[in-house]
Formats: sequence, structure tokens, C-alpha cells
Amino acid sequence: MTQAVNIKEQLQQLRAQINEYNYQYYVLDDPSVPDAEYDRLMRELLAIENDHPELVEHDSPSQKVGGEALRAFTQVEHQVPMLSLDNAFDDEELKAFDKRIQDRLNQQVSLDYSCEPKLDGLAVSILYEQGQLVQAATRGDGRVGENITNNVKTIANVPLSLRGNDFPARLEVRGEVFMPKQGFEQLNLSQKEAGKKVFANPRNAAAGSLRQLDPKISASRPLLFYAYSMGLVEGEITAMANSHSQRLMQLSEWGLPICKEASTAKGIDECHAYFAKIGEARSQLSYEIDGVVFKIDSIDLQNQLGFVSRAPRWAIAQKFPAQEQMTQLLDVEFQV
Ligand code: NAD
Repeated sequence: MTQAVNIKEQLQQLRAQINEYNYQYYVLDDPSVPDAEYDRLMRELLAIENDHPELVEHDSPSQKVGGEALRAFTQVEHQVPMLSLDNAFDDEELKAFDKRIQDRLNQQVSLDYSCEPKLDGLAVSILYEQGQLVQAATRGDGRVGENITNNVKTIANVPLSLRGNDFPARLEVRGEVFMPKQGFEQLNLSQKEAGKKVFANPRNAAAGSLRQLDPKISASRPLLFYAYSMGLVEGEITAMANSHSQRLMQLSEWGLPICKEASTAKGIDECHAYFAKIGEARSQLSYEIDGVVFKIDSIDLQNQLGFVSRAPRWAIAQKFPAQEQMTQLLDVEFQV
């Protein structure tokens, strides 16, 4: 009895703490703890909920995506929900993910994966109708995001119209808006000189720069976009690719910028090798990443696997160890 009460109390405290951190991170773009600390609390919550499924509530942070859309923006309802990703924190957890998928599909063969750097920015949905950019939105809570169309239009590498003519009549492109490392350093330098707030990391700088009511501020910030998937697709085209990696190529042909380091892997050993390779290249990349995303490449298999409450079953993000982020946040705290 006492133990049950303690667990309930513990859950309540964990949820309240995580909700507060979510608010600071997603709504204010101003986290007060490093991601590693947040991830530790989230794993603690998941472990307890896993042992006590009867105590899982629909509004637990484990069941929700991101944070609420700011009311200052008009709201956009996502016709296809924008979800988060499950995490793996080492090679063993990635291996266990691959095994789970094989078991679920009843296929004991090497699976094909799309492998992509996990860009450390914020997820954005861009809608093209008849090839013209008509709307852009943040992920928000996954169901409702903020309308940031005019801000996204100012991002240098986002096409306002698609190339060619063989594209779906309505195409929702999803990807990450991020701030390259060099631009981030320059921005923080000029913010500091002007006595303004410095940003904890490129992710918060990107989010803070994009979620501005005045698009001129977004336009003045060094933001870039890489597309990494399609959301809503309506209307026939000659041949829609049936693998995720080929769809990325299709997006590229229509003029959307794609991360050049994205690749494919056959089986889990090649995934481990890709993770190691990207880890080595990380410091040389012009943009910040916090891990690698592995996605089952076949769209048919993705559809078979489906989703759980806040993430697809067919993808996982393997994160890098978080020491560096902790140093960054502490540096900023000492500066201000
Ligand atoms: P996530 O960042 O772990 O993963 C999902 C996101 O990855 C997507 O929404 C997308 O934006 C991004 N992404 C980047 N590259 C991608 C690619 N190639 N394909 C698909 N998606 C890609 O999940 P989240 O729900 O956005 O955030 C959770 C994470 O945010 C936590 O693990 C933590 O690190 C951080 N966080 C920190 C705090 C804090 O207080 N420090 C609070 C909340 C969240």
C-alpha cells in the first residue's frame, strides 16, 4: 500500500518536473537543464510506467509530443500528426530495436534502413499546392502547430515553388530548420555585444529565431532547412517512390534541400558502422547534430509497423553521449 502511494507520488513529481522542462524548452525556447538531464528523467518515467502500466495516464509526458502552440500565432491543424522519435542511447539499444522490428514483421533477414544525421533544430511542415508554397507550421504538440508561413519563406534554401511539373498537387514536406554552427556563433557574438540574450545552443537559437511574430527578425537570422520526409500527399504523379530513401531523392529533384550525409544501410551492422562514421565526422559538419535517425526504408513496411502514441514504430534516434551539450549550457550560464 505504502509502496503504491510512493510510486504514485514519484510519478506525479516526475511528470510535473518534465512538464515544466517541456514548457521552458518548447514554448519559451529557453531550457534550464541540459538535454541529458531531461533524457534521464524521461527514462525514469518510462521505466516506472513500464513496470506499472495501470498508472499510465493519457496526459503523461510519455504520451505527448512537444509543447503547446503559442496563441500569439494562428494555429495550423496537422492532417497527418507530426510525431517524435523513440531514442536509443547505445549500440545495444539500437540492436534491440532492430530485433523488435524483425520479430514484429516475422522477418529474420537484414532490414534496409535509411540513415540520416539527427539535425538539432526544430521540425517544420511546409505545404505546397500546385507546386507553390502556401503554408508552413511548427510541430507544436503534434496535432496543432503555429502558422509561421511568412517566417519560413525568408529561409534562403526553402523553395517558394517546386521544380519540374510531375509532383503531387498537394505535397507536405517535413524537415528541420536549423542554424549552422558558424551563424550561431556570429549571432551569439552580436547578441552579446548588443547586451541581448545569448542562446544556449543552435537548436534554441533556431527555434527562437523562427518563432517570431515579426518575419523580419527571422529573415535576419542565418537559418537553413533540410527536408527529411513527406507528410500529406494528394494527387497522382507518374511514379511515387516506394522507399524512404528514394522519396528523399524525389524531394531533391523537386528542388528541396536534402542532407548530403544521408545514406542507406543493410542490416544492423551497417547501421552501427554509419553511426560510428557520422560520430567521427560530427565536429567537421557545418551544422549541429545530436545523433543519427534510422528509419525502415520500405514504405510498405513502415505502414505495416505503424505508430504508438508519440512515435512511429519504424524509426529510432540513436543519440550521442551528451557531455558536449552539458558544457555548452554551462558556458552560457556562466557568460550571462
Ligand atoms: P527528438 O528531438 O528526440 O526527436 C524527434 C525530432 O527529431 C523530430 O521532431 C525532428 O525535429 C528531429 N529530427 C532531426 N533530424 C531528423 C530526421 N532526419 N528525421 C526525422 N526527424 C528528425 O524529439 P523531441 O520530441 O523533439 O524532443 C525530445 C528531446 O528534446 C529530448 O530527448 C531532449 O533531448 C530535448 N528536450 C530537452 C529539454 C530540456 O529541458 N533540456 C526539454 C524537452 C526536450
